[in-house]
Order: sequence, then C-alpha cells, then structure tokens
Amino acid sequence: MNAVVRTTCPYCGVGCGVNVHTDIDPNRIQVSGDQQHPANFGRLCVKGSALADTIGSKQRLLHPHIGEQRVSWDQALDETATRLQNVIREYGPDAVAFYVSGQLLTEDYYVANKLMKGFIGSANIDTNSRLCMSTAVAAHKRVFGSDTVPGCYEDLELADLLVITGSNMAWTHPVVYQRIAAAKAERPSMKIVVIDPRRTATAELADLHLQITPGSDGYLFDGLLAWLVMHLAIDTDFILKHTDDFVATARSSRQRSGDLLTVAERCGLDEQTLRTFYHWFADTERTVTVFSQGINQSASGVDKAGAILHCHLATGRIGKPGATPFSITGQPNAMGGREVGGLANQLAAHMDIDNAEHRDLVRRFWQAPAMPTRPGLKAVNLFDAIADGKVKFVWIMATNPVVSMPDADKVRAALAQCETVVVSDCVADTDTLRLAHIRLPAAGWGEKDGTVTNSERRISRQRAFLPLPGESLPDWKIITDLAHRLGYAEAFAYTCPADIFREHAELSAFDNNGSRDFDLSGLTSLSNTDYDSLVPVQWPIREHSPDGTSRFFGNGHFFTSNRRARFIDGAPQPAAQQCDANFPLMLNSGRIRDQWHTMTRTARSARLLQHISEPFIELHDKDMSVLGLNHGDLVQVLSRQGSCIVRAQEQSGQTPGTAFMPIHWNDVFASRARVDSLIAPICDPVSGQPAFKQTPVSIDKVALRWHAILISREALPLPDNRYWCRRPADNWEVVSLAGDLTVSAAMLKKLWQDQVTDWAELEDSYGHTVRLVGYRHAMPVCWFALQPEPPRIDESWLLEALDRNDLSALQLARGAPSSGADCSALVCSCHQVREAKIFSAIADGCDSVERIGACTRAGTNCGSCIPDLRRLLTTNTVPEALC
Ligand code: SF4
Repeated sequence: MNAVVRTTCPYCGVGCGVNVHTDIDPNRIQVSGDQQHPANFGRLCVKGSALADTIGSKQRLLHPHIGEQRVSWDQALDETATRLQNVIREYGPDAVAFYVSGQLLTEDYYVANKLMKGFIGSANIDTNSRLCMSTAVAAHKRVFGSDTVPGCYEDLELADLLVITGSNMAWTHPVVYQRIAAAKAERPSMKIVVIDPRRTATAELADLHLQITPGSDGYLFDGLLAWLVMHLAIDTDFILKHTDDFVATARSSRQRSGDLLTVAERCGLDEQTLRTFYHWFADTERTVTVFSQGINQSASGVDKAGAILHCHLATGRIGKPGATPFSITGQPNAMGGREVGGLANQLAAHMDIDNAEHRDLVRRFWQAPAMPTRPGLKAVNLFDAIADGKVKFVWIMATNPVVSMPDADKVRAALAQCETVVVSDCVADTDTLRLAHIRLPAAGWGEKDGTVTNSERRISRQRAFLPLPGESLPDWKIITDLAHRLGYAEAFAYTCPADIFREHAELSAFDNNGSRDFDLSGLTSLSNTDYDSLVPVQWPIREHSPDGTSRFFGNGHFFTSNRRARFIDGAPQPAAQQCDANFPLMLNSGRIRDQWHTMTRTARSARLLQHISEPFIELHDKDMSVLGLNHGDLVQVLSRQGSCIVRAQEQSGQTPGTAFMPIHWNDVFASRARVDSLIAPICDPVSGQPAFKQTPVSIDKVALRWHAILISREALPLPDNRYWCRRPADNWEVVSLAGDLTVSAAMLKKLWQDQVTDWAELEDSYGHTVRLVGYRHAMPVCWFALQPEPPRIDESWLLEALDRNDLSALQLARGAPSSGADCSALVCSCHQVREAKIFSAIADGCDSVERIGACTRAGTNCGSCIPDLRRLLTTNTVPEALC
C-alpha cells in the first residue's frame, strides 16, 4: 500500500467519507469508510464498499468525438463553440440550453451556471435535481424564505419520535438508516413511524407503519395540523413571535380535513392507527420528520412538503436538537447544485432570478455582460422545447435523461431530431450518448478534485487519486475551455478547482451581511493548500463560526423579508392520475439497494448485480393470482405513455392494486425496461418536479416458447427474442433471454461462428432443450442453455468452472455441480451469503441478526442487508435452494 486518500462517496446524498488505499496497481486499490467523517463515522453501504470495482479505463469514453470520428479537444470544442454561437446569432440565447446533474462537483456546477446565466445570457440551465429535489427547494423557499435544511443527521439520532415519509432509507440512504438503527438499539424507547404505501426494508425498524393509499400523504399532514390545533398541541408563543398566516391556514386545514375518521378513510388507514400517530406526534417534543421522493415526486409535492413544515412550525419543533423537518437528498451533490443555482429558476448562492436586487448583485460580482431577466425552462419544459424545435442546441453533462426523464421515449425522439446534442460523460455508452453529435470525455470519481455538499449541508472534498484516463478532462476544465473560445477568457481564468471554490465562497458573502442563509464567508481566503486539506464542514461558515453551523432557525429568525416563517395555505390533492378498467394497477418507481441511477457505474461491479440482476415489477400475491402469474414470469407493463417487459415478482409488502418498478434499467442493459417510458410528464405546478410515484398501468403475461441463459467472454449477437437482460460477471457477460420464435443449435452455431471454433452440444430430439459449450483454442468462450422454463444454474460454480477449464463439456453443460448447489436468492452481497444458508442458520438456533452474522458472516461488513436479515427472521417460507 502506498497511501490513503480521504475522499467522498459519489452516490447518494448521505455523503459518506471514503478512505482510498492507493496502490501502483489500480486493480489493488481498496476502499473503506472514513472513521473521522461526521456523516458515516467509518460505515459504508454495499455501493460504497464496491467503489473499487467501478474504477479504471474499461467501458470509458476516452477521447472526444464528432459523430463517429475521433477528434482532438481543439476540434471538438471549436465545433461546439461554433454551433453554439451560430444558434445564438440566428435564434437568440434562449435557443440553447445546458442540462446538468447532481453528479457534478460544486466547482463544475458553478462554472456551467455562470457561463449560461452570466455570459450566454439565458437561464436555460436545469439539472436532474429537478427530478428529485426541486419540490423541497420550493417548499423551503415558500415557508422559510430560503432553501434551508434546518437540521442535521445527529437530529435523527436524538429524536424521540422519528417520522420517515416517502423514503425507503434502508436502501436509498443506508448509512443514515444504520445510524438510526444503532440509535434505536441503544435507546429502544425511541419511536419510529414509517409512512409508505409499500412495506419496504425501512419498515422493518418501525414501531408503526402507516401503509397509506398512494398519494394521500398530503391529507395525512394537513389533517395532522388540524388535529394539533384542535388538541391545543401547538407552540402558541413560537407561532406568534416567528410566523405569519397561521390562523388562516389552520382554519383551512380544519375545514378540509373534517374529523379523524374522514382523514383515516382518505389515507386508507384505520382510525385507531391514525390516532396513535397523531398522539405520538402531539406528545413528543423531540420529533424529526424525514421526507424524500415519496413527497417530492408528486404533482402537488410543494403543498405536501409545506404541510410537513407547517406541523413543525406550529409546534415550534425546528432547528432544535432532535426536533426538525429534514429533507434528505438523493444525489451526492444535489445540495451543491442548489448552492450554485443549478436550477433554471435560481441564481448562484441561493439567490433568485426573478429578484431584481439579486440579479444586480450577481451581475456586479461576475461583471456579467448578459444576465437573463426571467427563469429558464425547467427540465420537462426544456425537453418539450427541444421537441418543438425552440431549443436547437443542448449540452447534457453527467446525466442520462433518455432513461431518467418522464415520458422518456418522447425525450429520446426530441434529442434525435435536435440540431446539436453535446454530451459530456465519463462512460462510453449510455442511451443519451447514442444520440450525441459531439461526445466529450469527462473525468470520473477518483480522477477529479472538488467539493460536494450532502443532505445536512456538509461540504466535503472529493479528491483525485488516479491519473486522468485517455484524454478525459474534469468538467470545470471542459466548460472553462469552451468559455475561452466564446470570448470570456478573463471571467473564466481558473487554473484549478480551488480558484473556483474561492470565487463561489466570495459570491456567497458578497453584500450578504446575514441577509442570506448560504454564506461561506469564512472560506473566502482559503489557500490552495487549505483547500486541499479542507475537512468536512457544515455551512454557513462565517468568521464567528469557522467550524460551521449544525442547525438553523432555533432562534426563530427566518429569511423572509420580515424574518418570519410563512404558513402557506395549500389544499392537498389526490394522485394526479387514477386507475381505471384499462389501467387497474397503480405503479410506484424507485431505487433498489445495490444499484445507482441508470447503472452506468454500479453495473460495472459484478458483485452489485448479484443481489437483483434483472428488471422486475413487484405485485401483491393477490394480484399475481388474479393475473395468473407465477414469480419470475415475464410480463408486459403498459401505461398510457409506453410499455416495458420485466419479470413479475410476488411481494407481500405491496398493497393489493399497487405495483413497484426500479428506475435503473435502460437500453444498454435490457431490451425494454426503462420505467420512465411509462411515466406521464405531469409536474408540480410550483416546483416543476415530475410525479414519478403514481402511474396507472396494466399487466399481461408475455407468451414465450423458450427461456435461455448465455454466458460469454465477449458480447455475442443475440438470436431473435422478446426479452434480454445483460450484466457483467467478472471475466464474463451473462445474458438472460426469452423468445417465441424457434431457435436451434444449428442457428446459434452459425450466429456465433466468428467467435467460436469448436462446439460441445446437447439437444433433445425435438429441439426444446439446447445446451452448448463453445470453445476457441481449447478454451471455453461461451455457454448456452435454452429450455421451455427458465434454466436454473449455480452461476458462481459455473463461472469458476469455465475459468478453470478443467471439467468435461458434459459436466459443464449441466450448469451446476452434481450435488450441493445453492440457487436461492443472494442476501449479503459482501460475503455472498444466500437465503438458504441464512434459513439453515435460523433453523440451527440463530435468533438474532448478530447470531446470523456470527454464523454466516451475512450483514457483518457494510450492513446493507441487515433489514433483509430481520425480515428473514420473521418469515416462515423457506426458499427452494437447489438448482
Ligand atoms: Fe455512498 Fe452508501 Fe454512503 Fe450513500 S450511504 S454515500 S451510497 S456509501
């Protein structure tokens, strides 16, 4: 080992500190949790633990391209600048747009925003944070006068009542969830309420799970405010001193909500359960409400988030230890993007584009020649404008909107006919890159330097520990080089990320004097060395608080013009779309434990694809039965927007009539599984955030004649099929296939004749079952099994056997050892422990998570599977284990 570099995980908004143990050989780099980082204190979830699997130059975009032609950076940027200038000259600055990402570092984000809003003169820069956080931003600004997260992670541990709504934290923010689980284990009197239409892994820790009707969360919190008022469980002193418009809002809530039974019925709950929750909330001074995508991704999300903030304001539970509302962010730098004004309706440093004073302040600071006077296009409107031909040039940075935007097929069609699409990314192939006219290779995690801000306002350094692969460059450098070509060299004279960070800090302090929440005045004079050694710190960082600030608003001072918080009357709405006879099931979408966003990085880790390896739709047992489905059947999911083919999975945690699909799969990894192609572009009218959580769908079983598995050293052409899904597995690629047209051994051998020289073949006389092992120079290069039902194999045994090449073709063709194979579901990705082994440990007397860990090692590394272990401890159904 050479050295340890302290950096930050690039995935979720927890923002865990990572120690990278570097080595001359990049294959021997290791990661571990940073014990000193205040977000995780040494913990990492399974995604963070697998970071070393995702680095290196394989599958990377390494050189600039115009069309299919590899070009120099000068050619690529000259062409980009020329096309941009031509469009502006002919159609004006609003005919160009940037679409950026919460994956960018703050310094990248700052430069992109400055170029568009201060120099190109348009506000058409929006970010994929529009899809996950813009609702929380809008709600904070309406109620607090600023986009401020008042609390910190410690509050979640200090709370006596923790309400988690619209978040499967156990899978989406695993390390914060582990901190909560540890706090509850230490202090079992701490109560946890989970509000979610699904029973997820998060609910395993809950004292009370409110399995509400999808979309009814607004009624729940509106009703809570009315109930708190009626039972005099409010902090009148705080309300009178520090808020406006309470009486009118409380009266409206009371009129809308009716009695407790009415609220309970609207939410699909029984009255007693709802009363218990309301009593707990009323009686518990130290209450924290954590909210995330279930609230944000709604057509009335701003009112829902506002209803949560109201309940905390009415009880004065804000900005105090263990008492606060807490919006938890999805992406590693969603907060950094908000700080630099990455949203089309924001200016840098938490200022507003529709505020003339703010515009003037930023213009003076930047010496900007061309400030826009009105907000730009929000994400959905931006891609509509591309489809309509109004935006003719778009630069997409570090994101994959063809997969992640609602109405994703329309987004793809829009980009396909756009005059110029520039995409900068660190990977070689995404659904969006396939549509780019100009491809720019960007540096990835471990190769670039900068800062990110996590959900609790904590700024941490991401540090480089690898050389830049190929010709890739950090995003800030690419944008800066373009700015120079556009004639703005003086304003973009940055030589390193520290230059940009200092300017960002100076802008936050410029004419601030305590008038704005975002203030880094204590960091404006950081030297390059100070920047290099910057320790994680929570903003605001001012001269009198150089070590940062944990909480806001404990003193009752807000950032509205009169310094008082505002109650904003907003009537909660039901789900924007309702089910009907044609689309009878309500589809929810979200993340799974081991994947990140559109899989561009996590799918490089074979380990992370073992937990769940194919796209799926979860359905309640009753709906499976009504639809005549078995677990694992391939189904077509149809909405008013589009269709997908995925595997049906029985999941008792679903409410009957509802379904769930993951957001991750895309056209690079599966034939037709982009869930966002099903989702309508219906947005919250204030925030512009799309409603991803409630889409009416129908489901039909796909008629198939065969199912197959192909394992090959390199990607092979596939026979005619209805479905495929591919994933890496160390030295191999594994593809699941299914189809309805006849496939024979002879057809396959012809299809793969360029890659394979010798065959071992087993085929039944009717061609229903085919097993092939293909060799090249006496080494196995592919393995194929086709049969009427999905083949069951012991994959780890088979891959090892193929690598060793010491078994006969006949032995290999079986796909499993003659005895002892375990094909049950993988639970612990770190130690490769499957369900059957865990059930066997439970049968042998292991009656706790700790005992299972001691016996099998499951759950003893990153802890991401601990909620699953808890579930298995209470499950009686033992899975089929043998292949
Ligand atoms: Fe990364 Fe996991 Fe920490 Fe999120 S919880 S920052 S994914 S290690």
